[in-house]
Amino acid sequence: MAELPPKRQGGLLRLLTIVLSRTRGRAWTAAHLVEIRQLIRFSSLFLLTVVLPGLALAYFGLASVRAEALRVEEEVRDSGRRMADAAWTQVDSLFQGFEESTRGRLASGQSPLESLSDLSDSLLVGFRLDREGGLTAPFKPPEADLRDEHSPIFSAAWRAAIAQEQAGGDPDQAVRLLRQAEQETRGVFARGEARYALGRALLGANRLPEADQVLAEVAVDFAHIRNVHGFKLGHLARLKLGESWLNRAPERGQQELQNLVQDLIEDRWVIGQGGDPAVAARALDLLEDVAPRDWISSHRGRLEEKTQQLFWSEHLLGGLAEIQAVARGVPAEGSGFFYRVGEKALWATTWWGEEMFAFALDLTGLRAQLQEIVNGVSKGGGEASVMVLTPLEEPPSDAFGRRTLAPFLPGWSLVSHPVDADHIRSLKTARSRQQVTIILLSLLVIGVGGFLSIRMVRRELDVARMKADFAATVSHELRSPITQIRLKGESLQLGLAEDKADLEEHYDVIVQEAERLSRLVDNVLDFSSIERGAKRYDRRPGNVGETVRNAVESARFTMETRGLAMDVDIPEGLPVVFHDPEAIGQVVQNLVSNAAKYGMKGGWIGVKARIAPKSVDIAVSDRGIGIDAEELPLIFEKFYRSDDPDARREKGTGIGLTICQYIMTAHQGAISVRSAKGKGTTFTLHFPIRPPESSGL
Ligand code: ADP
Repeated sequence: MAELPPKRQGGLLRLLTIVLSRTRGRAWTAAHLVEIRQLIRFSSLFLLTVVLPGLALAYFGLASVRAEALRVEEEVRDSGRRMADAAWTQVDSLFQGFEESTRGRLASGQSPLESLSDLSDSLLVGFRLDREGGLTAPFKPPEADLRDEHSPIFSAAWRAAIAQEQAGGDPDQAVRLLRQAEQETRGVFARGEARYALGRALLGANRLPEADQVLAEVAVDFAHIRNVHGFKLGHLARLKLGESWLNRAPERGQQELQNLVQDLIEDRWVIGQGGDPAVAARALDLLEDVAPRDWISSHRGRLEEKTQQLFWSEHLLGGLAEIQAVARGVPAEGSGFFYRVGEKALWATTWWGEEMFAFALDLTGLRAQLQEIVNGVSKGGGEASVMVLTPLEEPPSDAFGRRTLAPFLPGWSLVSHPVDADHIRSLKTARSRQQVTIILLSLLVIGVGGFLSIRMVRRELDVARMKADFAATVSHELRSPITQIRLKGESLQLGLAEDKADLEEHYDVIVQEAERLSRLVDNVLDFSSIERGAKRYDRRPGNVGETVRNAVESARFTMETRGLAMDVDIPEGLPVVFHDPEAIGQVVQNLVSNAAKYGMKGGWIGVKARIAPKSVDIAVSDRGIGIDAEELPLIFEKFYRSDDPDARREKGTGIGLTICQYIMTAHQGAISVRSAKGKGTTFTLHFPIRPPESSGL
């Protein structure tokens, strides 16, 4: 046996009815059960079709904005990293180049200061230290005009003589070799060296007059030419000469040496062009026991002061002291370079044999130089840039990458940061703006969706209510003509009609009510087929004037018995119109019936046909209650009935005009309405006139 269990209430509905029964009472809840159910349905629908998509839209929108922002940031970071790498490579090759060329020059016995190449702009001074940290010489390239001479070709004789001199061999032999060397040697600088060596050898051989002459010449001719160790040859010659005179004629020697010291102190010393303080110190040492004490001490003081000036500042001296300590403490190590950052200088040191070479590079200049390299790399490099940062400097707050510049500049680094902080900031602002827009859009979508849903639900509820009214009205509308027909029929059956007039009145009522009944049934049936989409019309070419006239005629009798004057103006010869005569007749009857119901007080109904440029227009007018302008757009909606008490007094179902509009649309025509409240209404049917070729006639 088949069984249909009772329909179960949903959990939410049950919960809501319990709550509402407690708060609003059982009766209220039971009366509003349909609305509550509708509300739940609406809420779920609203949630599923509006809220969830809105939230999903917001979620994906925000996620994509975030992803886009991350992508931009990542791009900036990438380009920053690439730039820092490229800048580091350039700095690395700058220092590598410096190291290689320095070592190359050291190997070939040349002054390494020439080799500083790109770094030479930042060079403050270079020193040569021995194993004990003793300063051998500061050096700097000779004056530009002498540079060509700086790579002399020393002859074999020169070398042999020096070797012999140093080995304490035959002094005359040394003199001979050096004379020969002097002839062979090319270049001012080299010849000066050879001549000075010759002077010294002559002193060694005790050939004093010759020695005096040679050394005096060197003192004059090479007064401004320095050797690789930074000594001026002229000064060295005068020192040697003075020393020799001190033994031979102490007064003259003293005078020569004092003059030398005086000249040295008054001379303009240039940093790195060392030798000068060493020569002066040596001369002062020689004068120690001969010159007056206060002269010695005052000149030692001036020399000290001048040396300070030469080394420029304490920090350089401090740095040098540090380097000297390193030279003393650390065993000679391979061929590598060591770098240490001082207060204002970068010290680059390297061992070469038993000597250490130390170069002081100006940190400010170096920094500018590195920044220039970095700027070159950063140029046109997109959103990121790189800057050189010293250990004391704080990186910018938006910095995102750091590469140390060790081993060349310990503690220094290359820092990547966005080129244009404002740009990044504006990107962030744009991101927040986009996020806010997305959120607002989502809220708007939810809001509009909510509004539309509420409107839809309201309409649904209205339709539900109207449907309920419709059912009640239709039953009532059916009952009253049936009752009338039955009443009059029974009266006739029982022979209750008294005379002919009474009889006719009975027949009239029966016919009128039967017509009303049939129109009502037609409308209801039509409406239901229209709703189901099952309504078909048999449209054929025909005389629409004829159709309208027939419809009006069938209603005329009823109208006139109601005391309504009918004014029908349908000219002959209207253009042929495609139409279903039965359906159009129904439309006209509906309009005439409405005109009769709502135009009763005007006592007049007008039906008029006219030819418009593109259509045949049929107008049905009355002088009745009229329709409110606000109501006009609503009257064609199904089940719509005016709330106006005058209109409500009349019986009706609210489907007549809906059917009329549907039929006219199916005829590719239209229905329009003009009305003035309290003055009357005109409904006009517009039938399109087909051009003969397309009408198929
Ligand atoms: P009903 O069965 O109520 O007449 P209709 O669809 O024919 O239904 O009309 C809808 C509403 O339009 C009516 O309830 C009435 O308020 C208004 N209406 C229709 N025709 C007229 C008219 N000629 N004059 C004034 N009001 C009209």
